[in-house]
Parts: sequence; C-alpha cells; structure tokens
Amino acid sequence: MTNTIAPGFGKLWVTGILNSFRDATESLGDLDRRAGDGDFGTNIATAMRLTQGNVDSSSPGTYREWVTCVYRGFLGVGGTSGPLFGMFFRDLARAADAEPTVAEFAEGLAAGLATVQRYGGAEVGHKTMVDAVDPAVRALQGALASHDDAPLTAAAAAAVEGARSTAGIVARRGRASYVGEVARGVLDPGACAAAIMLQAAAAAAQGSDGPADTSWIDTP
Ligand code: ADP
Ligand code: MG
Repeated sequence: MTNTIAPGFGKLWVTGILNSFRDATESLGDLDRRAGDGDFGTNIATAMRLTQGNVDSSSPGTYREWVTCVYRGFLGVGGTSGPLFGMFFRDLARAADAEPTVAEFAEGLAAGLATVQRYGGAEVGHKTMVDAVDPAVRALQGALASHDDAPLTAAAAAAVEGARSTAGIVARRGRASYVGEVARGVLDPGACAAAIMLQAAAAAAQGSDGPADTSWIDTP
C-alpha cells in the first residue's frame, strides 16, 4: 500500500480533531472530575485553543505543518496529558512531510505510543491513553498486513473499544491512581481523547472533517 491515505488528510484530520473536541471536552472534563483531579477538560480546551492559534498564525499546508500545529498546542499545556499528547503528535508529524501513506502513519502512531510509554511508564491495563493507542497500533498493523480497505476505521474502532475497557479497571498511573476504587466504572479521559483523535483520523481518511460521534463516552 503506497498510496497516501487521502488528499488533504493532514488538514482534514486536524480540523476534525478541533471540531470533535469542541463537542466532547465537556464530557471529558466530567470524567476527570469523577476519577482524577478535574483539570483534563481545561487542558484539552487549552490545547485546542493553542492549536487553532497555531493554524491561524502559520497557515499550514503540508501534513507535517498541520500536525505540528497540534503537537505545539499540546506542548503548551500543563498536566500530564499535555506533554504526553504533545510528544505523541510530534512523532506523528515526523511520520511524513506531505500526505502520509497508511504505512507511514502506522509507523508514526507506533513511534508515538513508544514515546508515551517511555516517558509515562504506562502499560496496557493501567487506565491511561495507552489503553486506546496500543490496540489502535495493533489493529492498524493488522489492517495493513491484510490490505484492509479502511485501515484507519479499524484502528479507530480498536481505540474506542480500548477506551471503553478502561471503565472496568482501577488506574495505576496518573492522578486517577490516587482515588483507587472510586475510578472504577469511570472511563479514562485520556484514553477517550486518544480514541477521538483516531476517530477523527478515520473520518479524515474518508474525506471528512466533521466531528466524531463521541456519544459512546456518555453511554458506557
Ligand atoms: P493529570 O493526571 O496530571 O491531572 P491530565 O488530567 O491532563 O493530567 O491527564 C490525565 C490523563 O493523562 C489520564 O486520563 C491518562 O489517560 C493520561 N495519563 C496520566 N498519566 C499517564 C502516564 N503515566 N502515561 C500515559 N498516560 C497518562
Ligand atoms: Mg487531571
């Protein structure tokens, strides 16, 4: 598979992320209020405001320029998730200059996961963003190997399923680990955010920058 994912993928993906979080930030903040320290919604909102500012001031053209707006946005935010998502998107920006192929995107996603795990030390099952990104990387690699028609759709579905699985576990990393059993039954907001980013990527691969359907967050 050597074709690029879709014409204008970088712009569609980043615009889709901005559109999706406009709707979902409230619910994500709620999750962190129930199972963390409550700052996640503000952190995402700030990251999106900074990303939008970067888009407005730098007029991105290539995939790398678009994704760079996102990674710089997240690196400007506090909390644990800001730097981790910042480094995650930096690896995705490095994956390609012009529009990526699916294989390049898969490599960027795997590199981003490795970076998040190197800095954060989380494994699958620790109730973090890793619970969404790890299954997405595996699904994408599997979809590539089997020449799936919609590899990013498979990756997004795996990410959503992984994020949903975090309701059943108690956090081992991050501030949610301080509240222990209280977090059981509550989705991990970082995992949900990562799944939304992948839903936006799947939509972008189909030519859409519309907001992702994030109703699954409120109906676990
Ligand atoms: P904080 O935990 O500092 O309040 P945020 O509220 O910004 O940070 O982000 C919380 C999210 O960050 C969690 O939902 C989780 O997905 C993610 N997270 C926290 N710690 C880690 C870690 N060590 N590795 C990966 N992700 C983490
Ligand atoms: Mg928090």
